[in-house]
Parts: sequence; structure tokens; C-alpha cells
Amino acid sequence: MTLGATDLWNRILEQARTGLPDQAFRTWISSSRVVSWSGGVLHVAASSRFHAEWLEDKYGQVVQDIAQRLTGEPVELRITSEEPAVADGRSPEITVTRVVEPEPAPQPSSPPPSPPPGLNARYTFDRFIVGDANRLAQAASLAVADRPARLYNPLFLYGSTGLGKTHLMQAIANRMLVGGEAARICYIPAEQFVNEMVTAIYEHSTDAFRARYRSHDLLLVDDVQFLRRKEHTQEEFFHTFNVLYNAGRQIVLTSDRHPKELEGLEERLVSRFEWGLVADVGRPDYETRVAILRRKADEDRVFLAPEILDLIACRCKSSVRELEGAIIKLLAFSSLTRQELTLDLAQVALQGLGDPREPHLLNPTAIRDEVGKVWGVTGAALASGGRSRTVTVPRQVAMFLIRELLDTPLKQIGRVFGGRDHSTVIHSIRKVEERLGNDDAFRAQVDDLRQTLQKSA
Ligand code: ADP
Ligand code: MG
Repeated sequence: MTLGATDLWNRILEQARTGLPDQAFRTWISSSRVVSWSGGVLHVAASSRFHAEWLEDKYGQVVQDIAQRLTGEPVELRITSEEPAVADGRSPEITVTRVVEPEPAPQPSSPPPSPPPGLNARYTFDRFIVGDANRLAQAASLAVADRPARLYNPLFLYGSTGLGKTHLMQAIANRMLVGGEAARICYIPAEQFVNEMVTAIYEHSTDAFRARYRSHDLLLVDDVQFLRRKEHTQEEFFHTFNVLYNAGRQIVLTSDRHPKELEGLEERLVSRFEWGLVADVGRPDYETRVAILRRKADEDRVFLAPEILDLIACRCKSSVRELEGAIIKLLAFSSLTRQELTLDLAQVALQGLGDPREPHLLNPTAIRDEVGKVWGVTGAALASGGRSRTVTVPRQVAMFLIRELLDTPLKQIGRVFGGRDHSTVIHSIRKVEERLGNDDAFRAQVDDLRQTLQKSA
């Protein structure tokens, strides 16, 4: 019987699934796809170079053996990577040489219009996870994309670095580009605007400079804090702003701070920046961070266990860019050291990442186990249903310290203790708080423990 490529691959998957740990199977094997099967060569494409190397190294033999068994002939396994080139220009913490054997891309019937320079096609609304901290900014951006220059003009997004301002701003452009109308769009970092202005003055070509920025339907100026103290550029920008605004064109600006706090910026610009809507983009909360991580992992087609997502989300609180960096670092580490992605490995790989004031090696499970030791019981006993005082007291203390040191959500704490619900966790924490207030020996003991835990971090 001759098998087609897809059939063969599906049957390989079926057999591999039963013989491998679930995570290994999902991360390294089922995330790959079959390209072809002919002349005894089975060509498989992994989603990234990491995956390709790993698959080849650790599971190549397994896959090959299964294939030979199924086909009854010698099989040569060829594994390549289909990692797409990253278009956003910034280099991740660990730079990976992208060795890609390009797949022949299906030819579109007519070539899509080329996007304006500087625009990253990956920055879309689809890929933007919404949480409380960015809800208003996201909704306003979406509204602007759908009804440019009608609702909020200018739209001014501000917030600290790595929180998604550029992403949202470009999502507006990307949405307008697929929207059908041939919108003339210009994206420019304010810093570049300043540099071009300087060049224009030097080359006596300010007219051309002016014309270039006054002919767009949508002008996106990123990081306008760079205009501070550049009087001449501000002057120019002021006129450009007026021309576009009066012609009913949409302007979107981002900055690392509120317009009012942009000292060194002319008052008349500040006031224009506030004409439309000023929306802040804040730091994502825990749940949003986990959702973002899950999405990024899905996009990279890696499976990260919930404990690993939790670890990263607890450690990287300051920006989304940091979250992305953590995933890249983790994959690189696991690939380079040729180890499976486990929670232990993640803890080692991510050491030193995140807020330096945060206790690093601490995680809910570690605290639970440490507290258990002091009372002479195991972590497993604390996670069990036991109700005797020997386990209830350390269990309550552990919950209290986890909350205090890590600010872990109650539901999450409950999970570390065998799936207790959040009201039980609240009750436990209250009990400890009460006793801390009226039992000096107990308080001394908890203080000691807290110190030990913080030191071990
Ligand atoms: P900023 O311009 O605020 O410094 P960016 O827009 O460059 O931040 O975002 C940094 C990275 O984080 C980008 O890769 C972006 O795609 C990603 N990112 C930020 N916010 C989100 C979000 N809410 N959902 C998904 N990805 C996000
Ligand atoms: Mg930015």
C-alpha cells in the first residue's frame, strides 16, 4: 500500500503520541507539518529552528523508525524549519541565525499593495490581548481605524515602554490597509522626524520635507517625547499637524508620558495633543500577562505548561516586551542545553529576569514546601485534604506568605494546595493575620520564615 504524505504523517503522529510524554509530543512533533513524501524521503517542516534542531536530535530516530515500520522501506528523514523572518527590526535578547529553507509561497493572483515603510504586519488588533490596563486605548484605536478623523483626532496614546503603544498605533494602519480604501498612511518615529528635519534644513529642502508629511490620510508619529526641546522641528510639526487636521485627516501620536508632562514641548502643541482623546496604556495585570504569554506561545507553536506560564507571569511584571523576551530566552535555553522544557528548567533559565527587587527563586510551590519543612510536614501533605492542626497551621501560613511575597492571585494559591477555592484561601490568610496580632511567638516565627525565604530568593 502506498501512503500519501499526509496519511503517513498522521499515522506517524498517532503512534508517536502513545510513546512519548504529552508535552514533548505536542511541542516537538505535532507542531511540525509534513511537506512531502517521495522517493523514500520524508520531508518535515518544524515551526522554528529550535524545533527543527530539537526534533532532529531527540526524536528524529523515533520518527524515522515509525515511518520505516509503516512503509516497510528505508526512510530518510529531512527536517527543515519554516521560521518566518521577523519584520519588526528589533533584535531579541538572544539572536538566532535564521536558517530557513523557504517553502515555495503560493503566488497571489495580484500582488498586494506594498505597506508603508516601518509598518510591522504582525501588529494587528487580532494579536493584541485586551485587559483592563489597555482596554480604553484599544477600543479608541479600533474606533479610529474604523472611522478615521471622525471620533478622536488626534488619538494620543501614552504609557511606559514595551506596553503596546506602537503595536496599537500600527494596528490602526494595518486595519485601514486591509479595509479596502487605498489609504495613504505614514508611520514615523518622532526621532526620525527630527533627523529628517535636520537634514532638510541642512540641504535646503524643507519644502519637499513639508510636502512629504502633508499628503497623508493617516499620520502616525511614534514617541513624540523626542520632539522635546527641538524647537524648530516642533514648529514644523505644528504646521503639519494643522494642515492635516484641517483637511480632516487622522493623526495618532504616542508618548512615554501624558501631554501635560511633556516639558520642553511648546504649549500650543501640548494643547493640540489634548484636542482629541488621550488614553493611557498601563501594565497588564496577572491574568492579562498569562493570556499574552499563552497567545505568544501559540503563535510560536510551542506548548508551555500552566506552571511555566505562571512562573513567567509572576516574574515579568513590567512590560509585554519582557514577557516576550522571557519566552525567547526559555526556548533558546532549552534548545541550547538540549533539555525538555520543565518548570525546573524554566526557573534556571529565567533567573535574573524581571524586577530585581522581586524575590526571584520564589514561587508558590517553593514557599509551600519551605513552610512545610519548618513544621515538619511535606508539601504534599499541605496540598492534601488533611484537617489536623499539624497541617492546617503551616498550610495557612504558607498561603499567607505566598500572597504577601508574590501577590499571587487567590485562585492560583488554591491550586497549589490541591485545588482549594479562593474563599478558603481568604479565610486562611485572615486567620494568620489575626494570630499575628495577638501571638508574639507566632509572629516571630513567621517573621523568621519570611526573612529566610527572601534570602533564599
Ligand atoms: P511600546 O511601543 O509601548 O514600547 P510595543 O508596541 O513595541 O510597546 O510592544 C512591545 C511588544 O509587546 C511588541 O512585540 C508587541 O507586539 C507586544 N505587545 C504589547 N502589548 C501587547 C498585547 N496587549 N497583546 C499582545 N502583544 C502585545
Ligand atoms: Mg513604541
